[in-house]
Amino acid sequence: MPGVRRIQPRRSPFTRPFVIVLSAALLVSALLHATPVARAAKLPTPASLQPAGRVNFDPARGTIEALMLFVDFSTLPHGVQTTEATAENLLGGNRFNQFIHQQSGGKLDIRVAISSGWRRMPQPIEAYKTSFEGAFINNSALLRYIKDVQNLYPDVDLGYYPIVYVVMPNSEIYRRSQTANYGDLKAWIDSRRSGDSLGDMRNIVIMGGSAQSQHRPYMSLAHETMHVFGLPDLYKNRPGKAFEIIWDLMGDPYRANGFIGWHHYVLGWLPATRIAVPASATKTEYLLTPIHSGAGTSLLLIPMGKAGKYLAVEIAEPVKPHELIEGTSPWGGGVLAYTVSLLNSHARWQIDLYPPPGTHQSAAQGLQGNVLADAQFTLPHQVGAIIREPISHTSIEIKSRVGSAYRIEVERQ
Ligand SMILES: [Zn+2]
Repeated sequence: MPGVRRIQPRRSPFTRPFVIVLSAALLVSALLHATPVARAAKLPTPASLQPAGRVNFDPARGTIEALMLFVDFSTLPHGVQTTEATAENLLGGNRFNQFIHQQSGGKLDIRVAISSGWRRMPQPIEAYKTSFEGAFINNSALLRYIKDVQNLYPDVDLGYYPIVYVVMPNSEIYRRSQTANYGDLKAWIDSRRSGDSLGDMRNIVIMGGSAQSQHRPYMSLAHETMHVFGLPDLYKNRPGKAFEIIWDLMGDPYRANGFIGWHHYVLGWLPATRIAVPASATKTEYLLTPIHSGAGTSLLLIPMGKAGKYLAVEIAEPVKPHELIEGTSPWGGGVLAYTVSLLNSHARWQIDLYPPPGTHQSAAQGLQGNVLADAQFTLPHQVGAIIREPISHTSIEIKSRVGSAYRIEVERQ
């Protein structure tokens, strides 16, 4: 393909010692189980949770070929910024590939081909009607942007790539990144019965300035990429709640190291055999293993009252408290409880910490400044804690820690 140079991702193997430790932990788990585990009986299947309107929705598995191309504007020229350095920065060398490969347990690989050199968009950036920090003001402006990108690359078969990353020069003003899906836009185009067409492009990810200037650009790239596979943002758009779900990349691109168990399940990365659904009128002990361990029971889902709401319990792995504080050690490990509420909307589900922040031990102790401002969440539950959830008549006691796993007892009335 003219003008396109492929880069080959190197694979990163899982760390062997961790798997061995886990095998031992699993043996302990098998011995500890007093009653049989009721497996995912009435859970919605991952397929049923995929976005309805997405005609070209891609399952998060296999090897996906993506393309990264670079556009600038008369009013936002690239200056001395090279496309090679920009790609290297966004991909973190091989880190983006490693992250996706590891998180998916080897089920998904994304290979990003780089189109060298900037191409100049026909309009100044202001003409694409962007608003706050460079977000498109509406679908009409976004569609115009996409069409102009398509016209800039007549020599590249953009429809071949399930994901096309369009990168603009790093800018303090145009900071926002944005992901648009063919299905969503097609539905919008159809709804107004216009003569517009998207061609055969499927997903376009527009990378703004903040992704390029943060400490882990590849994590911002991964955040946007996972929108392609149907994950919604977990930001809390209310004061002081911006980064409540810091353990998930869709909730906090600055600190999270991966995804919560619910997202692993929805993506098809966590098999049903690693999910337990404790039945009512049972008392069961589990050895809860970390999601990323690749083995064992890693997610409990307990139906709460009416259909479409669950109490989820899993291990939260420590995160770095704040990117800007040198020398801070990872914290925030423990047992994470949250509710999943399925929604009949574009967002599709809402995740809330359980119990809500502020109702048990505060994470804010010992934190200052920016960290304190961001720490409007609570620590995960520690050994000795008992989580009670009245709607599902559930009581969960965190009994002990076994390496990276936790022994917990779940009693349901
Ligand atoms: Zn997002």
